[in-house]
Amino acid sequence: MSAESAIFDRERAAAVEAVAEAARICCRVQARKVSGAALTKGDKSPVTIADFASQAVVCRTLARHFPGDAVMGEEGSAELREAGNAGIAREVCDEVRTHVAGAADADVLGWIDRAQSEGGRGRFWCLDPIDGTKGFLRGEQYAVALALIDRGEVEVGALACPNLSVAGAPGCILIAVRGRGVALLPLGADGPGAALPARASNCGERLAARIVESVEAAHGDHGGHERVRAALGCTAAPVRLDSQAKYAVLARGDGEIYLRLPTSADYRENLWDQAAGVRVIEEAGGRVTDCDGRPLDFTTGRKLTRNQGIVATNGRLHDAVIAAVRSIRAS
Ligand code: AMP
Ligand code: MG
Repeated sequence: MSAESAIFDRERAAAVEAVAEAARICCRVQARKVSGAALTKGDKSPVTIADFASQAVVCRTLARHFPGDAVMGEEGSAELREAGNAGIAREVCDEVRTHVAGAADADVLGWIDRAQSEGGRGRFWCLDPIDGTKGFLRGEQYAVALALIDRGEVEVGALACPNLSVAGAPGCILIAVRGRGVALLPLGADGPGAALPARASNCGERLAARIVESVEAAHGDHGGHERVRAALGCTAAPVRLDSQAKYAVLARGDGEIYLRLPTSADYRENLWDQAAGVRVIEEAGGRVTDCDGRPLDFTTGRKLTRNQGIVATNGRLHDAVIAAVRSIRAS
């Protein structure tokens, strides 16, 4: 642990509480088998009532514990406030009321709108209320991802993965504080269970390395990943799963390499798609850089404008993977 690293006990506890509450709401909505997106955003990505309800409860919890803190969140309430979406807005508010009895509609929309921070060099929380919405809609993997960033350092990372089972529980939370390690908590119906250790794989053998990648071909260059796999000589086919559950899988030692090569030269990653996962995998002994091997710069606003693509590994294999990525990108 570095001398200047702070304790962040209160932030850690608040982050666990917030993502556990949000995960409970997401599970309830997913169990009702939501058949499709409630809304399609300007960038054509789907958003469900659970995305909004999750953002509302996380922001409410952060406001109770840290009323002065800024929050950057993926969603906003503008679309919910449109007259044509009144039915969806009511569903979102009803969902939040199952958790916060008596909350007024205005409170719920106000909590959602607390997450308007543009980030930068100061202290702010960074939230993806449902990362992997497409996986959520398919009934597969998704994550509630919450990070605390201060002066560009991801100090705390919390990932709730309701469909990633551990120790007999159907889901889990990974909670990490910079320099203080990561814990794996079974996601029980009555709240998180006792902490279990999490550790990245110790594998240093390229042939044996297991690769994870996005399900969505639009989010990661599957063809490029295949070439990296061939260059490294990995024998197993990549495992595809949605969301930052990919970081969780590496942090549990169930994979060695997460590839996210860009599908277009101008795409830049959203902070909320990476921040929590980065802290979790680094505290488990892994490493994360962009495709060029550069550290991620979290001071650049809502997007990682100075980085392209993501490479995460168990640490031991990182340099070899970056060399392979460089060679296939140069060819
Ligand atoms: P995953 O579940 O790993 O495929 O990642 C889901 C995230 O991919 C979403 O939260 C989006 O913000 C993000 N995304 C959307 N378009 C792209 C793209 N072209 N390249 C990389 N990520 C994207
Ligand atoms: Mg996301």
